[in-house]
Amino acid sequence: MAQLVERCLGKAEVASSNLAQGSIIIFIKLIIIGDFKMTTYIFGHKNPDTDSICSAIAYADFKTKNGEKNILAARIGDINNETKFVLDKFDISAPKLLTDGTDKKMILVDHNQETQSINNRDKGEVVEVLDHHNINFQSAGTIPFIADAVGATATILATMYFETKTPLDKKIAGLLLSAIISDTVIFKSPTTTDKDKTMAKKLAPIAEIKDLNAFGIEMFKAKSVWGDMNSADIIEMDRKEYDMSGTKISITQVETVDYTDLVPRKKELLDELLRLKELRDMNLSVLLITDIIKEGCLLLAVGDTGKIEKAYNKKLENCEMWLDGVLSRKKQVVPLLEKVF
Ligand code: MN
Ligand code: MN
Repeated sequence: MAQLVERCLGKAEVASSNLAQGSIIIFIKLIIIGDFKMTTYIFGHKNPDTDSICSAIAYADFKTKNGEKNILAARIGDINNETKFVLDKFDISAPKLLTDGTDKKMILVDHNQETQSINNRDKGEVVEVLDHHNINFQSAGTIPFIADAVGATATILATMYFETKTPLDKKIAGLLLSAIISDTVIFKSPTTTDKDKTMAKKLAPIAEIKDLNAFGIEMFKAKSVWGDMNSADIIEMDRKEYDMSGTKISITQVETVDYTDLVPRKKELLDELLRLKELRDMNLSVLLITDIIKEGCLLLAVGDTGKIEKAYNKKLENCEMWLDGVLSRKKQVVPLLEKVF
């Protein structure tokens, strides 16, 4: 016991403890430290979207059902209105908030880039990645890195459930289905693949969702409630940072069922983009107001905006431009900007 205690707590602490009197305290400490060391947290990116939250919950469920222990779903930011709608609908509580990766064992879902991940990730240990984004990741050891070019992390997960015949209940099927619908913008985004559609079709009856389109619109409407959100909340909701050849860029995407709802707040949103640009020391700060019905987006930008004009071969007027058919930041914005930077 004394040796075990020494190994776990360090010699100094043992030396200063009276083992006879302090053994209960040490034992409790051991439980806490032991548990802390063994827990593996699964989480998605900062400013989590529905795919990040639902995939974390589902992957923890998948691993637990397949016999793994001490797996815990987590999130590294606030839940947005769309995700709240989904969690309420399928009666699941939000995962635990985690803000620091120091000394943590971690599984990343729906992201792999450090700029989008937990603070101090490098002071912990990433043991696995499950993602559908471009890969910008380094690891000292060999780890399982599961990636596929599909529309949502949830599509990869759904495939894993079906292939391994892991039991899938209504709640988890509902979360996976919602994440696919959210990420693919009801299958309208050019990131959508046949696998996403196939998985959604298989999940729908288990989740007891009959009309996927109607359900999707309901979800996006839940997200498009701007009245109770200030401009900082709106900009922060789904914001990602990128480093493009040393240029720092912030790109927020908000999905709406009617982009004109946000037009009256343009000045306030531009002010916030500018404030953020200064605060985070960005070269360019962009907001994409995606209209899922009109199928395009209104782009607002401050900073080094010449690169945007070059990328789209179009002039910004009063800091804005309309981009017809642009629904995906990942496929229709980031790669175009990467080319010009
Ligand atoms: Mn995501
Ligand atoms: Mn995703």
